[in-house]
Amino acid sequence: MVQQMVRDFAQNEVAPIIKEYDRQQEMASFILPRMGELGILGICLPVRYGGQGMDYIALGLASEELEAVDTSLRVVMSVHVGLNSLGLFQWATEEQKQRFLAPQARGEKIACFGLTEPGAGSDAANLASMARLDGDEYVINGEKMWISLATKADHVLWVAKTNPAASDPHQALTAFIVELDRPGVSRGDIHGKLGVRAGSTGWISCQDVRVPAFNRIGEEGEGFKIAMACLDNGRYTVAAGATGLIRACMEASVRYAQDRRAFGREIGKFQLIQQKIASMVQYYDAARLLYLRAGWLKNLGKRNTRETSLAKWFATDASFSAASEALQIHGAYGYSDEYDVERYLRNSKGAVIYEGTSEIHQLMQAGYALGYREDASLRCELPAYDAEYWQEPL
Ligand SMILES: Cc1cc2nc3c(=O)[nH]c(=O)nc-3n(C[C@H](O)[C@H](O)[C@H](O)COP(=O)(O)OP(=O)(O)OC[C@H]3O[C@@H](n4cnc5c(N)ncnc54)[C@H](O)[C@@H]3O)c2cc1C
Repeated sequence: MVQQMVRDFAQNEVAPIIKEYDRQQEMASFILPRMGELGILGICLPVRYGGQGMDYIALGLASEELEAVDTSLRVVMSVHVGLNSLGLFQWATEEQKQRFLAPQARGEKIACFGLTEPGAGSDAANLASMARLDGDEYVINGEKMWISLATKADHVLWVAKTNPAASDPHQALTAFIVELDRPGVSRGDIHGKLGVRAGSTGWISCQDVRVPAFNRIGEEGEGFKIAMACLDNGRYTVAAGATGLIRACMEASVRYAQDRRAFGREIGKFQLIQQKIASMVQYYDAARLLYLRAGWLKNLGKRNTRETSLAKWFATDASFSAASEALQIHGAYGYSDEYDVERYLRNSKGAVIYEGTSEIHQLMQAGYALGYREDASLRCELPAYDAEYWQEPL
């Protein structure tokens, strides 16, 4: 039912207008309020925190359906739900959950995730932004770059250095919720992107922004662990979304291959076209099983960093290949925005870069296989799904 509801929203309300917004490089203003109204923005959070009480698999299914129409829709799930709200659900105190998480889950406040900076992406531990305790407030200074929903969000989960003298940079960072209407915050959109043009990607700057100590999430020095835990959830939605994009490529390719004729027959009869479609079938089933495994582990409350990374790496590389092959099947028509496949190709590339580039995921997978990497247990783990607790009314 969840999958059908999200599919109906994406196919009926967004698909008809998406090309226009993609051309204008703007996010349609109805998208976020409508997703909030439908409960999609709090889909897998307990009712007591403003959510819909569904499980983590529902989050994956929704992400798949959204990206089957446009990547910009799934990005909302990645940053608002995966990277921010589930981070709060895992690490925030009860008071912080009521203050920040509940309005986010209800869609009254929009959330984004601020880790990347102009000088630090993959090497996130070496970010430059600073937070200094001054009485019962922190003073934050720094710049975040490539932040999805930067200009649409009300809250950012901001990771800054609190202990620049720490011998291990991973211990130097702390996470905060910064309300984006605080004095000293400025932000803007990035234009001229290859893809996710109907979405919002931007920058945020904090100049002497004061936040109460209440806004600190977790302990001082826990920021890197919190950011990585957030990525376990964001990457899951990226994997599920890329799976939806593979499906969209496959469906568009099948339709076109059955319709377009060359050399006296439909092009679907040519074995070289069949090979491309067969690859998409293989990518889709494998990507889907990988993200469902990660979602199932989340439901059980089991650590899934390895499985989620594998799902994200595989699905995003596969969606880029599927989109490229789908465009090839469409020939010259695929090269214009008369068909959706050129947008699929442009949109698929970003996910190979954000939430860990494919190189970073390869390093992680090799690290696990070689025994160089293992996951220590965390002070706060993502709670296992418990239907009774999740659905208990307020
Ligand atoms: C559309 C979009 C949306 C985004 N949204 C967000 C967001 O909401 N929040 C946020 O915080 N960030 C966001 N990002 C930023 C994204 O997470 C970073 O771009 C990503 O982590 C890579 O960092 P970088 O771009 O600085 O590349 P770099 O880290 O500079 O890497 C450059 C190249 O070097 C490679 N490389 C780096 N280190 C190694 C290594 N050790 N071994 C091998 N190769 C290596 C990389 O794989 C890459 O190919 C977004 C990016 C995009 C494109």
